[in-house]
Amino acid sequence: RASGGESWVGVYNPDMARRAQDLLVIETALMGALERNEFSLVYQPKVLLPSRRPSGVEALLRWNPPGRPPVPPDLFIPMAEQNGLIVPIGAWVIAETTRFAAEHMPPSMRMSVNVSTVQFRDPGLLDAIDAALHASKLKPSRLELEITETAAMSELTLAIEAIRNMRNIGVRTAIDDFGTGYSSLSYLTRLEVDKIKIDQSLLPKDGDERMWQVLNAIIELCHAADREVLAEGIESEWQAERLAEGGCDKGQGYLFSRPIPPDALRAYLQREVG
Ligand code: C2E
Ligand code: CA
Ligand code: CA
Ligand code: CA
Repeated sequence: RASGGESWVGVYNPDMARRAQDLLVIETALMGALERNEFSLVYQPKVLLPSRRPSGVEALLRWNPPGRPPVPPDLFIPMAEQNGLIVPIGAWVIAETTRFAAEHMPPSMRMSVNVSTVQFRDPGLLDAIDAALHASKLKPSRLELEITETAAMSELTLAIEAIRNMRNIGVRTAIDDFGTGYSSLSYLTRLEVDKIKIDQSLLPKDGDERMWQVLNAIIELCHAADREVLAEGIESEWQAERLAEGGCDKGQGYLFSRPIPPDALRAYLQREVG
């Protein structure tokens, strides 16, 4: 997703040759970005349905190189996965988010962090999480890891084991972007996650009754497998109402809140939770 004119690529690259060169420039800049403190986190609330009370937040990584436009996560995260930088960057995300949750979030609220395959292939992940939990004194059950369906399917054995390891230390897990892979349903019970996050692409944008019936069936199926269900990318009032009618447990999307910086989140929590 090239966010219109925001990325270096969009701005400076009329053709493929330039594009490849710019990608190299971006990757070179990415190498030192962590040391230069160029990353930040924004937080997007998740709410209970139908009450719409916030139940937690998802941390989303941002990269703002000084003097340049922000680089979209869909561009730099796959890059960091390929060159392995996602491991130290991900460790920073875990340290930062656990500290923030322990210091600034009410005890009823959970912090969700995205992890990619490269991270759970890394034997140091469990230690990094353990260390962050100890340093922050955050209760393990207040941390949740989101693993995309595609990542879990591509390395099923590894995913099953990683999810089990997290469960053993009390950290919660969720399947992210559910419904974008193609073997979704058969693996629903094999991956012992706590939550399923239904991808935005499965959420009807209009009154398409057949789509709603399919979505409601998916919600029921997840419940039958004893998984909590969250719908992503909710943008309209009536989508939230239909989801609540269909028994969806939680929702997330621009309707409730966009991803917001730490200060704005603290204000939001004060307002919504007290
Ligand atoms: P994701 O985990 O599926 O995150 C949801 C994306 O949808 C976010 O994009 C969010 O800003 C956007 N979104 C939320 N609500 C709405 C809505 O109502 N409508 C629309 N159109 N979009 C909505 P973002 O922040 O650009 O992140 C893109 C992806 O980058 C994430 O997808 C995730 O896979 C990855 N990512 C972000 N932060 C991290 C991180 O710390 N580590 C790893 N490994 N991946 C991350
Ligand atoms: Ca996610
Ligand atoms: Ca998602
Ligand atoms: Ca996604």
